[in-house]
Amino acid sequence: MAVSGGKRLRLGEILINAGVLNDEQLTIGLNKQKQTREPIGEILVKLGFVTEAQIRHALELQYGIKSISLKSRIAPEIVHILPESVIRQFQVLPVGISGVTLAMVDPTNFMALDDIRMRLKGVNIQPVVVTEAEFSEFLRNMPKTPEIPRAGSGPLKEEHSRPHSPLAHVPHATIGGLGGLDESNPTQLSASILTNALKRQATEIIIEPQENETVVRYRIDGLLFRETPLPAKIAQGLVSRFKVLADLNLTAGQLPQSGVFTYSFEGRPIKIFINSVPVNFGQMMTLRLYDSVHLNDGTLDSIVLQPEVAKNLKAMILKKSGLILFNGPLGSWKTTLMYACLKELVKTNRTLVTVEVRAAYDVPGICQAMVSDDLPAMAVLDAVVKQRPDVLMVPNLNDPLIANQLVQIALSGCLVLAGVNTTQGVFSEAIDRWKVPPRTFANALAGIVTQRVTRKLCSCKVAFQPDTQTLEYFRTLNRTGTIYRPVGCPACNDTAYHGQVGIMEVIACNPQIRELIAKGISKARLALFARQMGMMPLYDYASWLVASGHTSLEELSKADVFETAAEGVCPTCGQNEAQCKCNK
Ligand SMILES: [Zn+2]
Ligand SMILES: [Zn+2]
Repeated sequence: MAVSGGKRLRLGEILINAGVLNDEQLTIGLNKQKQTREPIGEILVKLGFVTEAQIRHALELQYGIKSISLKSRIAPEIVHILPESVIRQFQVLPVGISGVTLAMVDPTNFMALDDIRMRLKGVNIQPVVVTEAEFSEFLRNMPKTPEIPRAGSGPLKEEHSRPHSPLAHVPHATIGGLGGLDESNPTQLSASILTNALKRQATEIIIEPQENETVVRYRIDGLLFRETPLPAKIAQGLVSRFKVLADLNLTAGQLPQSGVFTYSFEGRPIKIFINSVPVNFGQMMTLRLYDSVHLNDGTLDSIVLQPEVAKNLKAMILKKSGLILFNGPLGSWKTTLMYACLKELVKTNRTLVTVEVRAAYDVPGICQAMVSDDLPAMAVLDAVVKQRPDVLMVPNLNDPLIANQLVQIALSGCLVLAGVNTTQGVFSEAIDRWKVPPRTFANALAGIVTQRVTRKLCSCKVAFQPDTQTLEYFRTLNRTGTIYRPVGCPACNDTAYHGQVGIMEVIACNPQIRELIAKGISKARLALFARQMGMMPLYDYASWLVASGHTSLEELSKADVFETAAEGVCPTCGQNEAQCKCNK
């Protein structure tokens, strides 16, 4: 006896409702059932009153969900994600994973749905309806044991993300791994790993030699995924192969090494930066992949999606001089956005020069000056300044001497774009660490661009109505639109997300803001003050991304965009009301 939600309509009624069966035929069928005890659907088909297809169609109409036929092969490993006792008790059958597609004889059996949602926590359950006859037949022939996946061809397992990552705790996801290749051949293996990574738009490959295996991980959309385990003995050959590609000295393995090579994938050249470091079981290696496919078309509008913010940034980079600081944690697209700004400036007929350790992307119309062991950054900078460029870009600023030099260059009439790796905002960096006098810093500053990235919802997203409190929050921000929730599909490996999207805050300096900076305003207060002047703080931008369907409320809550926003800040002096003396 099946446990039911109680509201189950009898199949006969459903078929009569659908107009494919009449009362008389149903009576004949029911009388026959009293003798044979077979499911009514099976009897009606045998009597020739209806077809299996008609029954399925009627079930679809009745329940408003899709039906499924169990005649085609159902993978045993999917069936067996539920114990057989549960399958029999509730008359349900897992048949597909994109979430789990759950075939149900009675899709109104909410008790069954609840029970199964508990068992498969965090998995999206998609009910479909199935005829009782097919269900019974399937049970009679149900495969007993799941197949054991072939060794070396198993799926990739998602790994923990970095502890501080806002993207931890996403539903478990797997992606396909290496399969059927000669693991003892480093050339073939390295090519397979690169192809695997680039196909999945990974930004990083990490090779870790361990005692009994070689672990290869890919960073995709900020999360780590694990490749099929590889034998321990291949690590050395694999690391050496990448070093050969980067033209590094193989005999210097006892030292950390770094280098770069270009790899051709789907007809485009991809720069790959490698770093190796000796560890207890060999050498650990990180490969950073700079695939221009991540740049979309690399234009400013394709990166800064919010039109107002994009407009403000475009206006800011048209200034003749001043320092624009791009700040955010590693991997928050600072370099990408700075390059997009330069591309925008290429159109303006100004001389553009970058000072970089390694150029990740080659951009036409820009001179890229390289720092090396023989030519330190300060020497390159001095030489570049003598060329009197209109715009100077330093993607990674971490040396206080260089920082002070850039402030002077900005004050002397050059537009300087500089990237700073920090989550603490630029004030603590510039004033506390670089020791730039606050007044000098404020005078040099043309603007501050703060960045984070968050995951982008896959197109399998579904619109939904959030609770009133959430809606109220969006209304106060003046952001109304359609909000979507994550779902999961094969295209996104059931992670519900595909790619990433930037969260940007653009604060253009004006005399008032300069005054506040010179007096030492906090980052949170500046954001609030900028909002009062019509600029969009980081958290407003993130909310806009949700209200425009780019990301989800879940991602918004994980994104590192919320400051302890200061209450009651005076718009004139930026002090809180207790300290403000403007009107007293
Ligand atoms: Zn999807
Ligand atoms: Zn005041």
